[in-house]
Amino acid sequence: MNIAITGAGIIGRLLAWQLLEQGHKVTVFDRHAIDSTASCSYTAAGMLTPYSEGETAEPLVVALGKHALQRWPQLLDQLGSDVQFHSRGTLVVAHQQDRGDYQRFNNAVSGRMSLDEEQYRLLNANQLAELEPELAQRFQHAAYLPDESWLCSHSVMSALADKLQQLNVTWYANTEVVAINSGEVITKGRTANHHHFDLVIDCRGLGAKGDLPVRGVRGELLWIEAPEVNITRLVRLMHPRYRLYVVPRKGDLYLIGATQIESEDYSEISVRSALELLSAAYSVHPGFAEGRVLKSDVHCRPALPDNQPRIEASDGLIRVNGLFRHGYLISPAVMDEVMEVIADGNYQSEFDGLIH
Ligand SMILES: Cc1cc2nc3c(=O)[nH]c(=O)nc-3n(C[C@H](O)[C@H](O)[C@H](O)COP(=O)(O)OP(=O)(O)OC[C@H]3O[C@@H](n4cnc5c(N)ncnc54)[C@H](O)[C@@H]3O)c2cc1C
Repeated sequence: MNIAITGAGIIGRLLAWQLLEQGHKVTVFDRHAIDSTASCSYTAAGMLTPYSEGETAEPLVVALGKHALQRWPQLLDQLGSDVQFHSRGTLVVAHQQDRGDYQRFNNAVSGRMSLDEEQYRLLNANQLAELEPELAQRFQHAAYLPDESWLCSHSVMSALADKLQQLNVTWYANTEVVAINSGEVITKGRTANHHHFDLVIDCRGLGAKGDLPVRGVRGELLWIEAPEVNITRLVRLMHPRYRLYVVPRKGDLYLIGATQIESEDYSEISVRSALELLSAAYSVHPGFAEGRVLKSDVHCRPALPDNQPRIEASDGLIRVNGLFRHGYLISPAVMDEVMEVIADGNYQSEFDGLIH
């Protein structure tokens, strides 16, 4: 089939790749350059944490996210690129004043998801010290979710761009899509350009506003280089306003994130958010005090009213959106589901799961 994908974020790139591998002719449209890091997918911390997210996310997100824990390693193997992937688990910690939140987290995670001891363990100070000695200086307890993982979103995005080009994708970069119809993409030009396909897959995230009730949810995060910190697992800190996380990356780098604010404001990180993120990081490990703030990232997550992902399929057009704060966590499952719709060729069918 001759297939167009509008939007080269994580879901657009994954779908383009799988379709090319199956022998389809694929054309990608994006408003940014191929090597631009402007999309939301580049901002993501890359956490694959279905159980921790389960505290607040819908059961559907948890189910899709569990699939990712097995599926991402397979995909990265197939991609054959040097993508940072870490599967060392999450440690959830809380300071004394936030013990109530910690208790609520544990009740939600153990109660709702019926995890066994292999998947979820409560650690005392000695057990924590064995796993992450430097965290035990500040915390006496932790919840440990050993299966959770994370990856480097930048390396995944650029590995996918390279792969698509190797597989001879047609990529319209720096091209604004102004409208999408069944089998048709209209792009901006001095006169509108009409491009025709057997199928269009709309993956524009927030760019699909007007066609879907999608809204942006602002997230801010900081990149810190901290040679005095040696934390090797993902850390989630209970915090009264949002769950803060510390994500280790190679080379003494840590991502500290992320705020969650109902706003489509793309401006620089606020002083309040920077103060909260930095003081939280310092409260996790005093070594962050001597770290260097390399940069801040701000983006808006594409969310639908129920904060769940959606695939809308009709003849000649599939819309995929609402990945919200879980784009990396759920994109393998969403991709597999879209590939199934295309393979079955029955776009009108009522599907279990995601299809509307
Ligand atoms: C601070 C922060 C931290 C995050 N951390 C995580 C995390 O740890 N784990 C996780 O799973 N998720 C995380 N996320 C969420 C994740 O980033 C998103 O869910 C994901 O990026 C959404 O992917 P997408 O492909 O749907 O959209 P996008 O990445 O927004 O891609 C859409 C693409 O469409 C293009 N486009 C839009 N409109 C047009 C148009 N009219 N014409 C042409 N092109 C267009 C854009 O240029 C863009 O490239 C985080 C998000 C933020 C902001």
